[in-house]
Amino acid sequence: MLTIQFIYSCITNRLSEQECTNELADILNNNTSPKVARLLQGIFTLNPQALKRGITCRPCHGTEQQSRMGYYDGRYQRIVLCCDNIRSKQQLEETLIHELVHAFDATRTGKFTSICHLVACGEIRASAIGQCHDIKSESKKRACIWDDAVRSTAVHCGGTDLAMTFVQQVFDNCFKDTAPFTTASSSTS
Ligand SMILES: [Zn+2]
Repeated sequence: MLTIQFIYSCITNRLSEQECTNELADILNNNTSPKVARLLQGIFTLNPQALKRGITCRPCHGTEQQSRMGYYDGRYQRIVLCCDNIRSKQQLEETLIHELVHAFDATRTGKFTSICHLVACGEIRASAIGQCHDIKSESKKRACIWDDAVRSTAVHCGGTDLAMTFVQQVFDNCFKDTAPFTTASSSTS
């Protein structure tokens, strides 16, 4: 099994569990990502229990989460990074930021028309602060957030067409909501 995993990660250039764990430890212990540090600070201020079980790397192939790069598991209060879907340290950091936004949002309460509006808002925020953040062109950045939010919301909320409606209804407000970063510009620091 280990051998298959090793060959798989070599062929596809994905991180092995050990590489993922090492890169993660570097980010967490050496404070190399100001955004990760800020999110963790926000989470621990609002709810020290939100990440009680921590952040771990593991292969997700063969599980229900096998198509994902990572996920926040609110029930077990942990983040899992799917090392077999992550290609680089940068992608690991972006995924971690994305999932930390979900963990942060799980500590907040908001007023939403339905649970699917709440889901859509969380996905918009996680993508805007995470993997779509550094895209220079405003229209490409919005497209990146839109596509990701629709794809992720569709899984929980009845397919792509419905997801597009939910995402559209909350897009502008949630795009602007960059907590725990106070303003859009400070989230680059
Ligand atoms: Zn997400």
